[in-house]
Amino acid sequence: MNIKACDWKYGKKWVYSITYDEGLVDLNKFAIPIHEEFGVPGHVEVVAGQLGEIRNLGQSSYNGMRHMNGKELKELIDIGWGVGNHSWSHEIIEENMLDKELREARDVIEEAIDSKVHFYCAPGNNINMADHILDEARNLGYLGAMSLTDALNRPGEELFWINRTALHDQFYEPFFSEFDPFRNIAHAEKQNGWIIDYCHCPLEEPVHPNKDCSESQLRQRLETVIELGGSEVWCAVPEEVIFYHLCRRHLKTEVVAENDEQQSYILGFQGLSNQVENRDLTFEIIVPTGWCRSPVYWVDETPCLAEVVRPNTLRCTVTIKQDTKLRFGPGKNS
Ligand SMILES: [Zn+2]
Repeated sequence: MNIKACDWKYGKKWVYSITYDEGLVDLNKFAIPIHEEFGVPGHVEVVAGQLGEIRNLGQSSYNGMRHMNGKELKELIDIGWGVGNHSWSHEIIEENMLDKELREARDVIEEAIDSKVHFYCAPGNNINMADHILDEARNLGYLGAMSLTDALNRPGEELFWINRTALHDQFYEPFFSEFDPFRNIAHAEKQNGWIIDYCHCPLEEPVHPNKDCSESQLRQRLETVIELGGSEVWCAVPEEVIFYHLCRRHLKTEVVAENDEQQSYILGFQGLSNQVENRDLTFEIIVPTGWCRSPVYWVDETPCLAEVVRPNTLRCTVTIKQDTKLRFGPGKNS
């Protein structure tokens, strides 16, 4: 088969996302303006039981700071951000708490922001990635669950245990560390990985060195991603990435013809969650040299123009419905 869905949208080599646990209103002080400056969207993980309230959770370093309310979260969504469920209580989730922490919390957030919540994000630590919790998250139709494991997410993986890189001033003992704005980037470039950074609320100084970075460290990180990533990095909100990832994994391709006159395919999905709101996929296709001169292709008989990415290779991003017809052939060469 001459056609292949790219690992990531637009044929990008690696992906960068960043999440802010708790969704505190003080993100407005530095983080949001820095994001706007660099054109990179962020993502907040919201504690549903404290929406809009002054934080008051056990020994939290962030007690006394205010969580965003529905209106403030909607403003973030309007500038391209996303919102996840960071549980109802931020406690360790036992079996008997699942309905409150996963279902009710999600319903309350969805109501407040007037859009769907697709991610569960484990509060505290990976204890909240236990099997009973992940099973319930799957049952409830979440598309992914975010952990606190510092690793890449890879295109070939199932991605319900989503890794996140701590963007913190220093790691907890005994692994003391220095802030590294390059963290995992070379790794992501080599392995076509998806980095998701996480921190809480960068201010002049980190609120807690093991839980956060400073605003200048955040700036350095985004500068480094943009500088090293150039046009190879897809900076995207996690929802958009998981939609793409799931579409790629559930794509069904039927070859209609691959000959001198045409290369045509019927595309659809098998077993794709109906929660997936965006169904665009980027393809690369090997074609005869002559077809690159006027690289036209047809989606359900509507002509579009492909990009020539390498000799004999075209790239296009297409919205796939059920039984979408994609056809390539010689364009007008004179
Ligand atoms: Zn948290």
